[in-house]
Amino acid sequence: MFLSFDGVDGAGKSTQIRLLAEWLAARSLEVVVCRDPGGTPLGEKLRSILLDDHETPIHRRSEMLLFMASRAQLVEEVIRPALEAGKVVISDRFLLATAVYQAHAGGLVADDVWTVGKVAVGGMMPARVLLLDMPAAEASKRIARAHDRMESQGLAYLERVRQGFLLEAERDPQTIRAIDAARDPQAVHADVVAAVEPLLLA
Ligand code: C5P
Repeated sequence: MFLSFDGVDGAGKSTQIRLLAEWLAARSLEVVVCRDPGGTPLGEKLRSILLDDHETPIHRRSEMLLFMASRAQLVEEVIRPALEAGKVVISDRFLLATAVYQAHAGGLVADDVWTVGKVAVGGMMPARVLLLDMPAAEASKRIARAHDRMESQGLAYLERVRQGFLLEAERDPQTIRAIDAARDPQAVHADVVAAVEPLLLA
């Protein structure tokens, strides 16, 4: 089973991924957690170019393709082998993030990003995307601002990101489950479990 988490920074992805991984492991499932961008030697190099390199100019389309290259590698090196071995994979972000950050918030066309993305991931799509949603103002209070190349763009940008996520969730509610993340972690975790559990029983 392939799952991903997404949402604005500060929404609590890391905590919720840890809680879900523990919940799955307690049910004797083997869990692999990975991050996108990153998660492979190539992916980690691309991640540092994408997030930490403040010097090199990167056009939006180049940026989108670098995210996709990292993801293609992650699928073949980590996700597909783990699924074939019967494990559960939880990815910290996946294709949805690029549709939102580079298209809805970044100016590319979302349908184009999905089209390129489907080629990049070779058909490997998450069975569920857990979208941790919270108001932009709330999220920005939770994060120390501007610690990477992407995060220094202010509240209006964060709000575009949030609305992009919600729009994509409306388009594909079967896969993308928006969860109110502005609550205590255990309440959020209960909703995450409710969204995932039916897949285990299916
Ligand atoms: O996943 P993580 O929170 O570590 O990502 C760091 C930042 O990278 C995010 O805050 C976001 O601004 C940016 N990002 C992006 N496009 C993506 C994925 C992440 O701009 N496709």
